[in-house]
Amino acid sequence: LTQLYAPLNFLGFVYREIKHALADMERMFGLMEQGLEVADRPGARPLRTGQATLRFEHVDFGYEPNRQILFDVSFTIPAGGTLAVVGSSGAGKSTLSRLLFRFYDVGAGSIMVNGVDVRDLTQASLRRHIGIVPQDTVLFNDSILYNIAYGNPDATQEEIFEAARAASIHDFVMSLPEGYQTQVGERGLKLSGGEKQRVAIARTLLKNPPILVLDEATSALDTRTERAIQEELRQIARNRTTLIIAHRLSTIADADEIIVLDHGRVLERGSHRELLARDGRYAQMWALQQAGQDDEALV
Ligand code: ADP
Ligand code: MG
Repeated sequence: LTQLYAPLNFLGFVYREIKHALADMERMFGLMEQGLEVADRPGARPLRTGQATLRFEHVDFGYEPNRQILFDVSFTIPAGGTLAVVGSSGAGKSTLSRLLFRFYDVGAGSIMVNGVDVRDLTQASLRRHIGIVPQDTVLFNDSILYNIAYGNPDATQEEIFEAARAASIHDFVMSLPEGYQTQVGERGLKLSGGEKQRVAIARTLLKNPPILVLDEATSALDTRTERAIQEELRQIARNRTTLIIAHRLSTIADADEIIVLDHGRVLERGSHRELLARDGRYAQMWALQQAGQDDEALV
């Protein structure tokens, strides 16, 4: 424990770093280069809720004026429900999470949280309510402690440890010579894909958001790590409004609704059973994965 900052020092440390961290976050989403910034509307109000119903209504979007990426995408995720999105690479799946987090505004249509257009909410409050476990977790060039605590600057050490335990990363961290003060990121200790994802899970658990976005990236992980992480993700999705971008269909068979996104359009939608009965694209993808011809490019 002597390796750790005293709580007050630690909090100051986090606040000093928060600006830099936000910049890192935006870089992570590929925004810095474009210099795009979505601004709060005058009179934007803060979102304050422990329960969120999420709704995409006829959303059109393109990063560039001449290339539309999403076409008339609509769905509703009731509070505590789970919607899964599947589709080939480039279909626009991760774009949905970037719009929800409001790194960009929709071209047409709207995104609503509890019936309020996200453009009428302050960005900071919106983002506080959303936890993203991204496809490829980018760690800040800082300590493991910082990387987890980023999820909630007010967290106590015990809460941080608890989140790390729940994400099955605590024992690993404690086994390192410098423990939670171990520097990670580009200039520090290189963590494996599974370890980085566990840090992201711990961070999200600490943030405890009512809305969760899981951009599943399992291709880089071995089967055992993948299974373990899937189980952890299932746990944190419980009782949260969850948007899950799935690569392996077996992980989303129990989602309330599944959407097949194809070139930015909703091609099919329904429960796992309904989609199998429909015998369309989803059923085809499912058959291929069951046959073990599991290739991410197919999904
Ligand atoms: P998916 O997650 O389904 O693989 P994405 O939502 O990441 O797909 O991307 C959808 C499309 O948008 C792709 O064709 C991609 O090249 C394009 N795209 C993604 N990010 C940007 C960006 N920042 N600027 C321009 N085009 C982008
Ligand atoms: Mg993606």
